Amino acid sequence: YGKVHGGNQVYEYNKQMSQTYNELLLLESDIRKAFKLNEFKLAYQPKVDVQTNRIVGVEALIRWEHGKKGKIPPSTFIPIAEEIGMIHAIGEWVLYEACRQFMRWKEAGAEPVIIAVNVSAIELQQADFLCKVKNAINETGMDPNYLEIEITENSVMQNTDACIRTMKELRKMGISLSIDDFGTGYSSMGYLQKFPINFLKIDQSFIKDLFTESGSAEIIKAMIQLGHTFGLKVVAEGVEGEQILSFIRDEDCDYYQGYFYSKPLDANEIGMKLNSLH
Ligand code: C2E
Ligand code: MG
Ligand code: MG
Ligand code: MG
Repeated sequence: YGKVHGGNQVYEYNKQMSQTYNELLLLESDIRKAFKLNEFKLAYQPKVDVQTNRIVGVEALIRWEHGKKGKIPPSTFIPIAEEIGMIHAIGEWVLYEACRQFMRWKEAGAEPVIIAVNVSAIELQQADFLCKVKNAINETGMDPNYLEIEITENSVMQNTDACIRTMKELRKMGISLSIDDFGTGYSSMGYLQKFPINFLKIDQSFIKDLFTESGSAEIIKAMIQLGHTFGLKVVAEGVEGEQILSFIRDEDCDYYQGYFYSKPLDANEIGMKLNSLH
């Protein structure tokens, strides 16, 4: 191939491409195996009330400990899982596991808090998504009033009408809805009016840039006001320091998540925190 194009550069380029391609293939078969080998687990990050610093909920985040390669982050394998269709099996597992964990904490006497699950656009748009959610709730005994579904802004935008119908059904069941990574999508603001959501999660890129990027403070203020105008609770993602926390507190942001309060923790560690809430 390099010869045809008569240059080393082209050859090198394609060699690199095919290497990446092989890595993808490998990851693809690894994802299928990981699922059978039970290599996935959930970590949970607290959501905290900005004013009282009390835990109001936890977000379930998938973790993959690969037998040979170690930890592989969701930003690497979720997009591949979406492409190869494995996201449906993974998403269903995440949902069930989150509900089961809620019940385990409850049985251990912990103060119940909302548990949030991230859902891919592809899942939300699948015809049997509602069925899966209902089954998970019924089979685990989960109280749907303590279940929240996080949907990223980008994903919601395709097939809007179908999404709105699904979201309305979820709300009827008592489930709350969040728009995740708010501010990073291409959407118009019109959907804030149309979508039956409860929470806006300001993407961590804005929070991270608060004191370094001029204009970020104004954007954050505007997003908090926008959310409140539509009757939504606003969550700041990726709060890593005291200064940022005091800024969003002054701006009346409702909740936050971030390393400043806690990294994502395993189920037992969270259980202890929830037990001490009483
Ligand atoms: P997300 O839902 O926006 O989750 C927030 C991400 O930010 C998490 O990364 C979390 O560990 C990280 N984070 C939290 N606080 C801080 C902080 O103070 N500083 C920094 N630098 N990072 C912080 P994680 O767990 O790697 O997840 C990345 C993304 O992968 C998630 O973004 C979500 O979109 C997706 N994801 C995770 N679990 C699932 C899942 O079960 N299903 C689906 N469909 N997607 C998932
Ligand atoms: Mg999320
Ligand atoms: Mg996010
Ligand atoms: Mg994200």
